[in-house]
Amino acid sequence: MSSIKLQNLRKTFGPVEAVKSLDLEFANGEFAALLGPSGCGKSTTMNMISGLETPTSGDIYFGNTPVTHVPAGKRGVGFVFQNYAIFSHMSVFDNIAFGLKVRKLSGDDIKRKVQQVAELLELTGMLHHNAGRLSINDMQKVAIGRSMILEPQIFLLDEPFSNLDASFRFYMRGQLKRFQREIKQTMIYVTHDQVEAMSMADKIAVMDFGILQQFGTPDEIYNQPTNTFVANFIGSPSMNFMDCTFHQHNGAGLLTHHSGGRVSLDDKRSRLLEQNPDKSNAFILGIRPEYLHLHSQPAADSWWQTTVYMVEPLGSKTIVHLQLGTDIVQAIAPADFRAEPSTPQWLELPPDHIHIFGKSTEQAIR
Ligand code: ATP
Repeated sequence: MSSIKLQNLRKTFGPVEAVKSLDLEFANGEFAALLGPSGCGKSTTMNMISGLETPTSGDIYFGNTPVTHVPAGKRGVGFVFQNYAIFSHMSVFDNIAFGLKVRKLSGDDIKRKVQQVAELLELTGMLHHNAGRLSINDMQKVAIGRSMILEPQIFLLDEPFSNLDASFRFYMRGQLKRFQREIKQTMIYVTHDQVEAMSMADKIAVMDFGILQQFGTPDEIYNQPTNTFVANFIGSPSMNFMDCTFHQHNGAGLLTHHSGGRVSLDDKRSRLLEQNPDKSNAFILGIRPEYLHLHSQPAADSWWQTTVYMVEPLGSKTIVHLQLGTDIVQAIAPADFRAEPSTPQWLELPPDHIHIFGKSTEQAIR
């Protein structure tokens, strides 16, 4: 086990700056996810940690040991890629046992360890099958087993389940999380799937355009996003964003939307918006669909009048699209909610669930 520190890490490919000045620290035994859209620099970061790529500048430490220029084979890192890497002419047993044979473990020890890994990955009945004839799902299990069995101090997985079918992905996510909890290796998992990152990782590093946007627990990332990119990337349906203007009215701070909807702000938030360095009154109000409460009758002045645009029944819940001036926002309503388009509704915005972002900076103000 080992912590990992990335210090001012940068990687360019000709004119492309794949990773820009990345500072990140993964704690010993942590399960971390690198999350972001395609091309944001996740794989390049992983390749630098594993030693497959040399950084253009910056440093990598495992614990207190600098490893930036240590060859990949000497870093003690296990790596599983999106495309399964197995010996297709060998049996499942020999594939999983391969690294232990290289390390010259005794036959009994190898058998015992292969059995353990095979049980965890549900490969026990296939140990003597030819690996090249397995399904893609099972080949990826073998690839994971081959790395896992060596109990590397650091385990890196780059979108390992993205070629697998959905139910198998769901199953493997659970298995991997259990395995990591048992072995407590430092594990870094690359994905562009926010559900995968949220459901498995202790900490998530969200990247965009080679830049770290936020590093935090799933709760922090979901409930306290640092900017509109993170707020929008995490959650499905994603956060609603509404342009608003800020002004004082009878001593109280108010955010007003062009539809006429208003939110009263407490003193702390009012002060923060007044001190906004770009001196603009323009802000973005964000609220997640599950916190937009719908009412069929107005009962409070603070509720925003809206009309139903479209209703999506999903069985366990209903997603309601609502017209608010020229904006369409989404609210999550109970499973039995039904309404025709243009039906009036009133929206309650609980103050504790409102996020405010600078219009020009797109950074959270809190
Ligand atoms: P994906 O999820 O699609 O794999 P990613 O977030 O892992 O994307 P990277 O593969 O790290 O992103 O790529 C980051 C940027 O660097 C992209 O613009 C990519 O085209 C570029 N890039 C990566 N590897 C190379 C390379 N060997 N040569 C040139 N450009 C590269």
